[in-house]
Amino acid sequence: MAPPMFERERTEVAEACRRLAREGLVIGTAGNVSTRAGEREVAISPTGAVLAELTPEEVSVVDRKGKVVGGDLEPTSELDLHLGVYDRYDAGAVVHTHAPMATALSCVLDELPCVHYQMLLLGGAVPVARYETFGTPELAAAVLDALEGRSAALMANHGALTYAPDLDGAVERALLLEWACTVYWRAAAIGAPRTLDEEDREAVVTAALERGYGSTRPADGGSEEGP
Ligand SMILES: [Zn+2]
Repeated sequence: MAPPMFERERTEVAEACRRLAREGLVIGTAGNVSTRAGEREVAISPTGAVLAELTPEEVSVVDRKGKVVGGDLEPTSELDLHLGVYDRYDAGAVVHTHAPMATALSCVLDELPCVHYQMLLLGGAVPVARYETFGTPELAAAVLDALEGRSAALMANHGALTYAPDLDGAVERALLLEWACTVYWRAAAIGAPRTLDEEDREAVVTAALERGYGSTRPADGGSEEGP
C-alpha cells in the first residue's frame, strides 16, 4: 500500500517545472526537479515528460533508495543524482536544468568565477563538474564532489544543478545561476572580467548580516538605498 500521495509536494514539483520552462531554463523534456516529501520520500519529475505542461499527477514519488512509491510514471533518469544530493548535503529540493547560458559556459570553463556578490548565495565561484554520461553513477559522483561547499554546480557539456532547503529556493538559485552566467558571458565578450577576492566577499557577508539583506523591513525615514 502506497503512503499518502503527497499532493502538496507533487503540485510544487509540477509548478516549479512549468515556471522553469516559462523562464526559458528548461526546454522540452530536458531537466528535472525534486523536493522532499515526508521523512523518507522524494517527489520527482518523471522521465520523458514535457516540463512546460507537467501536472501533479505525473510527478513520481520515490523512497530514498529510488523505489517508486507513488505515481504511475518512471522517475527521471537523473534519479541517483537527486538522491545523492539529499543524502550527502541534506538538501530540501534539487533543480537540474540545461539552461542555455549555464550549459554554454559549462562547455568552456572549469569554474564560473565569482563576478558578482549575489553569487555568494550559491557559495561564490561555481565549479564545473567533469563530463560524464547522463544518468550514470559516474555523473552523480562527479556532481556531488563539485557541490562540496556550494549549493550550485555546472556540469561540463551538460547543464547545471542547484539545491536549497526548499523548492522555491532551489528554483531561485537556478535563476540566479543563469543570470550570473549571462553576466559573465557578456562581460567576457568585451574583456577579462574582474572577480571578487576573499576580502571583497567577506565584506559582502558582513554588510548583508548588518543590513538584513534579502528581507523587506519597514521604512524608518532613512534614505539608505538597498544593495
Ligand atoms: Zn541533464
